[in-house]
Amino acid sequence: MPIKTRAAIKAEHGAPLLVEEIELEDPSDEEVLVKLFATGVCHSQLHQIFNLRAPMPVLLGHEATGVVLEAGSKVEHVRAGDRVMIQFVPRDLPEGQIAAARTKFRWRDEEYEADDVYTWAEHALLNEQMVVPLPNDVATDVTAIIGCAVITGVGAALYTANVQAGQSVAVFGVGGVGTNVLAGAKIVEASPIIAVDLQDRKLDYARELGATHTVNASDVDAPAAIKELTDGGVDFAFDTIGLEAATLPAVESVRAGVLGVSRGGTAVIVGIGYADLALPRPRLLPYGERTILGSMGGSTRPGHVMPRYVEWFKEGKLPLEKMVSRRYDNLDQINEAVRALKDGEIDGRSIIVYDTP
Ligand SMILES: [Zn+2]
Repeated sequence: MPIKTRAAIKAEHGAPLLVEEIELEDPSDEEVLVKLFATGVCHSQLHQIFNLRAPMPVLLGHEATGVVLEAGSKVEHVRAGDRVMIQFVPRDLPEGQIAAARTKFRWRDEEYEADDVYTWAEHALLNEQMVVPLPNDVATDVTAIIGCAVITGVGAALYTANVQAGQSVAVFGVGGVGTNVLAGAKIVEASPIIAVDLQDRKLDYARELGATHTVNASDVDAPAAIKELTDGGVDFAFDTIGLEAATLPAVESVRAGVLGVSRGGTAVIVGIGYADLALPRPRLLPYGERTILGSMGGSTRPGHVMPRYVEWFKEGKLPLEKMVSRRYDNLDQINEAVRALKDGEIDGRSIIVYDTP
């Protein structure tokens, strides 16, 4: 039977999100209907809300937890009653398939296609690729951020960059993704781990999450400070912001290689920028053999790595409770949650908790 639920909807560019009823059909063969426990509020949605003018209405949000209410006949990895995480990267696409099929929803008596995934809703109808099982013995609230912040941040450190013990790391931006790059760097015993942000409050917070050193880029020239701390630059600098003010200093903070002996360090661009960006000193790349890498979703198949991240959370290696610094208890607070994130009030991540078991 079709169900009615509430969802945050971007119906007009520049206007506040609406929280209104949508209608979802029964799952088709490859879909699951999920009742959500909690969702994260991610920076990417700020881009979706304020920068992108994709066809509207748009449903938003892309990391969450929930329980499967119904699963289609061809869904094999979860069934009704199973707890799941929802993530923005398909969990394990068959060879040759490039995306999960989209689902549909009805709003104000019209039918629309949803984005691949959405979680700012009390229920979601999703392709089975967009959920990964969550064990019953772990928290269902803070684990909501595994589906984007953790796979993106930890994955960037472990899989895109393949940071090794003893290598030096700088992380620009201490948001939901930045805290997870810090956590990933700590897990593999990188050293030193330098956090860069513009607010002392966020840098104190970064130390709690594994940073060994901090640089306040509103006080000092960050690349110069990093070069001083590391005797010439870091092995890896992560830009988790995607703005010129982070991308360029990240590239400048990477160490040079030695001609004929070794390659230089790597800047990993994780934050997504929308403005054009010119590299003022492109010679930094050939001289010193530096590398720039892009990372999206942590360079892995979530179906393989998310269970490991849950284990690390249980073992205390991934401090999700610390990473979630604010909670809202109702979808009606979504516009306030968006404002607080936009205004830089949120350390790490905020979550909306709909209903936990
Ligand atoms: Zn995200």
